[in-house]
Amino acid sequence: MSLLSVKNVSKHFGGIVANQDVSFSLNAGEIVGLIGPNGAGKTTMFNCIAGYFPPSAGEIYLNDEKISGLSPEQCAHAGIARTFQVARTFTSMSAQENVMVGAFLKNKHVATARQVANDLLEFVNLGKFKDKPAGSMTISEQRRLAVARALAVSPKLLLMDEVMAGLNPTEVKETVEVVLKIRQRGISCLIVEHVLEGIMPIANAIIVLDYGKKIADGTPQAISTNPQVIAAYLGVE
Ligand code: ATP
Repeated sequence: MSLLSVKNVSKHFGGIVANQDVSFSLNAGEIVGLIGPNGAGKTTMFNCIAGYFPPSAGEIYLNDEKISGLSPEQCAHAGIARTFQVARTFTSMSAQENVMVGAFLKNKHVATARQVANDLLEFVNLGKFKDKPAGSMTISEQRRLAVARALAVSPKLLLMDEVMAGLNPTEVKETVEVVLKIRQRGISCLIVEHVLEGIMPIANAIIVLDYGKKIADGTPQAISTNPQVIAAYLGVE
């Protein structure tokens, strides 16, 4: 059975069609990439899945539970966490406090939330930054901090929006290793990414959006040789 099922989802903003009749599914324990040109509707799809916008049409299910139309907090309780294109860390708070903010969704005790935060900071290789203000960390570290904060809500599905953008090759590799560790924990990942050398080698499947519509869905190998995807997004290389 699919963990996430997106069924015929459309999202309009006035006359702008950001998503049009998009359907796809994702299984438990999978990494799935959501790619496509700028303005193709990838972030809008994330916002629909995470409860930031209700879809204009269509339905979204997590396991058997219909989540479309729920609030972001209700989606988080159902098992969905996300990171944003801009990491949105609380810059004056320590790395530990940033992750504790996520942990408080499911743990009411400060000591437990602190322990969850410390474990997750180790998990994303940021243990040594525990007491440092988030604002003193590099972009790459802040993105992994945002991943740790999202993991602190104990999600079944993690939505990651361009976690590899602007990173150097070493930082991309570090981030890829964290994503692989997340899958090993049984958490599924849906990843919007333009850094194809990061996502293509690790994804179980890739979904391609163009002008709001899904134009392809398949293995990274099939997607990279799909003529429609090459014409719309990948180019000849
Ligand atoms: P990028 O790769 O540049 O982040 P994207 O694929 O994530 O792009 P979206 O940000 O989802 O694309 O945008 C899809 C379309 O919807 C664009 O035309 C955008 O201008 C429009 N759009 C997105 N959010 C809103 C909004 N809140 N109000 C009006 N239009 C919006």
